[in-house]
Amino acid sequence: MGRNEILVRVLACGVCHTELDEIEGRTPPKRFPMILGHQIVGSVVQCGETVTRFRLGDRVGIGWINGSCGNCRFCTEGRENLCEQFLATGRDVEGGYAEYAKVQEEYAFSVPQEFSDSEAAPLFCAGAIGYRSLRLTQMKDGDTLGLIGFGASAHMVIQLARHLFPSSRILVFARSEGERRFAKELGAFWAGDIDEEPPIRPDVAIDTTPVWRPVLYGLSFLQRGGRLIINAIRKEASDKDQMASIDYERHLWLEKEIKTVANVTRMDIEEFLEIARRVPIKPEVKEFALEEANEALFELKERKIRGAKVLRL
Ligand SMILES: [Zn+2]
Ligand SMILES: [Zn+2]
Repeated sequence: MGRNEILVRVLACGVCHTELDEIEGRTPPKRFPMILGHQIVGSVVQCGETVTRFRLGDRVGIGWINGSCGNCRFCTEGRENLCEQFLATGRDVEGGYAEYAKVQEEYAFSVPQEFSDSEAAPLFCAGAIGYRSLRLTQMKDGDTLGLIGFGASAHMVIQLARHLFPSSRILVFARSEGERRFAKELGAFWAGDIDEEPPIRPDVAIDTTPVWRPVLYGLSFLQRGGRLIINAIRKEASDKDQMASIDYERHLWLEKEIKTVANVTRMDIEEFLEIARRVPIKPEVKEFALEEANEALFELKERKIRGAKVLRL
């Protein structure tokens, strides 16, 4: 146990699509075996000698970023999400599909008491990266927001966006009828299929799908001067050939922009937890036992999704 580390007894760990990217080799761990899981809520059971931020019994959360070099240009600018030596929880360091997890104290966060263990877990990736994506759109109140894909992250972003941008209309593009119904329940102005023409053009859009086709549709529907944020650590290769049909005039011209989002900073998590508590965001959670982790991952792969999946210990 390192001097600045805390040992946490895991209470809940969110299941993220990134785990499928690790298992299927799109962003593989450098060594095996590796314990997956980077949306951890737990209780502090041991503190290293120099730990000052936490005490035994505190409820803390751990996200995707588990450490960074601290010295590079990105780290010193508070952009440790872009650090070349950044370490990911559950990929480079053992994660939360386990009874215990360890982290340096500066990469752990107090969990607001408003959230149960299971509700809090998905805040640490799905929620925080959703917050970062929304921030990167640079949208203002009144702008129309498109959400392409409606999984764990988007179901929190819609709640966040309605709070931060009360006059904005939100369009949801989702494949399944269930996801579209859920989006309407959460206040979507309109919900349609991925390739369905929306009644108005989104000024900004966030794509959370693992494939390519929605990127093209997103760009073709985007308002002139609009910006598309791709919130995905990797895209699957299955329909990559679709991108060969990209058309400059239809998809890119008129100052349309594409930006990707990578990881989250500690500040993203801190800020998001505070806003999530205030809104308050209500994560919809389906619980699984630790032994059912494979089942949860299969459901995610088959896109059986309503809100977030969480392993409850
Ligand atoms: Zn994640
Ligand atoms: Zn760095």
